[in-house]
Amino acid sequence: MMEDAPDCGRTFRDPVPMNVDVNTLFQVTVYVEAILGLLLLFAWVQNTAIRAVAWWGSAHLLRAGSITLFGLYGTWPDIVTIDLANAILLTSFAVTWTGARVFDGRRPLPLAIIAGAALWLVGTHSAITLDRMELRALVSAAIIAGYTWATAAEFWRGRAEPLVSRLPATFLLFAHGALFLLRTPLSAMLPWSPTNEVFGSVWLTVLSSEALLFSISIAFILLAMAKERTEHRHKTAAMIDQLTGIANRRGFVAAADEVEQRQATEPRRIAVLLADLDKFKSINDRFGHAVGDAVLRVFADTMGRTVRPGDVFGRLGGEEFAAVLYDIGRERALLLAEELRARFAEEAGSVEGHPIYGTVSVGLALTEDRRIDVTGMLRQADQALYRAKERGRNRVEVAPCGSVERPNDPPPPGYAADAA
Ligand code: GH3
Ligand code: MG
Ligand code: MG
Repeated sequence: MMEDAPDCGRTFRDPVPMNVDVNTLFQVTVYVEAILGLLLLFAWVQNTAIRAVAWWGSAHLLRAGSITLFGLYGTWPDIVTIDLANAILLTSFAVTWTGARVFDGRRPLPLAIIAGAALWLVGTHSAITLDRMELRALVSAAIIAGYTWATAAEFWRGRAEPLVSRLPATFLLFAHGALFLLRTPLSAMLPWSPTNEVFGSVWLTVLSSEALLFSISIAFILLAMAKERTEHRHKTAAMIDQLTGIANRRGFVAAADEVEQRQATEPRRIAVLLADLDKFKSINDRFGHAVGDAVLRVFADTMGRTVRPGDVFGRLGGEEFAAVLYDIGRERALLLAEELRARFAEEAGSVEGHPIYGTVSVGLALTEDRRIDVTGMLRQADQALYRAKERGRNRVEVAPCGSVERPNDPPPPGYAADAA
């Protein structure tokens, strides 16, 4: 398309006889890019939560602007219609890439955004490339391919988020980047020369159509991704605890149900862990509710870092948390519970500058049954937790009567030695 014009104004400089009306093509492209840009910005105004959409809309508007400038070739100075137009075009691809970063919660990188344009300006004004059209075209194509692949890579990195439109977006961007890079060797093989009328018009038509179709498809895919994310968030918001960002009781139960179902086909050893912060009411009373909230967040973070990636965990309510540890033996489960207890005692020593010395008691229920009943196991874990509280808190107890001793802990009265 008009991204061809970055080949240093070649579209206009060479007297290429064509059967495609360049002006019409330019006008259509400018119009389409501008409409897509406005459409995306309009979508962003309606849901400002997804800022990436604003970046993507701006990218299309920048492209419309740069193509308009290319169209003024001959009427306006070259510095505007070639240098500025190319700089804006390359930046537009950087802006699309930045949108992909922002979409997945990464920071924009201002230097990298202008790097493409800067590289092009330096590259095309250097002594080596000055008179070599192919080389200048290659610089431009390489920069565009670079940004396009970087965009594809950003989407690929975020693939853990289950959005169906992520895959076509990654594929389309990758393919478009590859095509851009191939253009230079391809045009050397099928030269687009003033004497070759057929290839000349074929090239222009093929490249313009591909670039235009790409622009339209990517705008719609990006819009679909943003919409899909919003829907996904709405669906999951009801399952997330607002304070800590981990699953709430509903989310935990839903995830535990899935483990129960998986257990029917792939039976594994399971452990259910129940944790209750010690003397939490007193933390609230002494330091205030806001500090209490911070302590809850510290615990949720500690739990998130302690359980394994496939484990299910959540906040059941108040200062009570639970986890279903999948495919885990007794010793590993006890170690994990003990690690949770010890880590939290360390992390909650001081919270927001307050000497909290928070601790947690943990009850653990283990099973090797094929058919597990998380509710029943939670009840068992609760009994173990009750014993942990009774026996002095800041400790792990196993249902029905095991317990993990910390080093130097005196064995509790009546303790049956069936622990780890
Ligand atoms: P124990 O060691 O026996 O568990 O004592 P405890 O004080 O932790 O237990 P208790 O159940 O008496 O107190 C729980 C407190 O947790 C009472 C309630 O005000 C507080 N709480 C519940 N939800 C929240 C919350 O979201 N934020 C804060 N800051 N406090 C909460
Ligand atoms: Mg409690
Ligand atoms: Mg408590």
